[in-house]
Amino acid sequence: MYNRRKFIQTTALSAAAVALSKACTTKSGSVNQPIVISTWDFGVAANADAWKVLSTNGKALDAVENGVKVAEADVKNQSVGYGGLPDRDGIVTLDACIMDHLSNCGAVLALEQIKHPISVARLVMEKTPHVMLAGDGALQFALEQGFKKENLLTESSKKAWEKWLKTAKYSPTSNIENKLYDNALKAAPEKLPGNQYNHDTIGMLALDSHGNLAGACTTSGMAYKLHGRIGDSPIIGAGLYIDNEVGGATATGVGEEVVRNVGSFLVVELMRQGYSPEEACKEAVMRIIKKKKNSTKDLQVGFLALNKNGEYGAYAIQKGFSFAVCDNQKQDLIVKGKSHY
Ligand code: ASP
Repeated sequence: MYNRRKFIQTTALSAAAVALSKACTTKSGSVNQPIVISTWDFGVAANADAWKVLSTNGKALDAVENGVKVAEADVKNQSVGYGGLPDRDGIVTLDACIMDHLSNCGAVLALEQIKHPISVARLVMEKTPHVMLAGDGALQFALEQGFKKENLLTESSKKAWEKWLKTAKYSPTSNIENKLYDNALKAAPEKLPGNQYNHDTIGMLALDSHGNLAGACTTSGMAYKLHGRIGDSPIIGAGLYIDNEVGGATATGVGEEVVRNVGSFLVVELMRQGYSPEEACKEAVMRIIKKKKNSTKDLQVGFLALNKNGEYGAYAIQKGFSFAVCDNQKQDLIVKGKSHY
């Protein structure tokens, strides 16, 4: 008997199928691949290394690992990897995760003294039965895999921390325009307030020429956080999510708010329902704003998304969120993301 329940199931399924096909067909009907996108202006340099892989028919997974390693190694980048601002106790602790088109994923949390947490995360994915390793266990695994301990606290990050210690007030501020920051850093790093520009993660999403997606996300987390604090960045579904049928998303900003809303998973699920990447990012941002009521004045969260057709978009609470795009048309594009305020 074609009962009511079955009817509801069938209608829901066909509605989902329509939504999915809507999400998977561009206006022109073509797919923009390969493509790589990543958060913030520093994504341009990272995309360039990812592109070396993508433009030679390499895999999205290799591309995103190669790409974000550029930001991890960049001493001037004080929010990712080597040179990252430390926690309250002056210790640099790194979070990273990676995910491929088969939903394989790996993450390291609060990893110390290892310059490339993303590569350790990839090995967690490939060489262990686990998804996440944290703290001492993550370090032990990294050393077993041949990584070398390094001091990640640079003189300039140490100075910024010492300055912060004078007030020791934890107040994550919104991103400031990156160019202004870069200029200020070049001119007089010691003059930068210790708590300014104290968060900005690199999240990268790639679609390769085989039609497969992968993503990576890596950060030193919120500057001057409590020792042991973990944000969204190494949490699959929060800081990063990939579904090869639909697309991928990544997040930056105050991680606690992203975790509470399982942000990147939400963005991907919205794209599954037919939202464009920008609309999906906007809806995820609006949920955070709605829940926080009137207390989002100084809060920054931004989402970046890429769908299966190579269409991309972003949305943030505050102005100033940028992202970098690299595809066959343009290799060093910086897009100013739209924002609520
Ligand atoms: N989301 C990161 C964290 O909360 C920081 C950032 O992206 O700025 O650790």
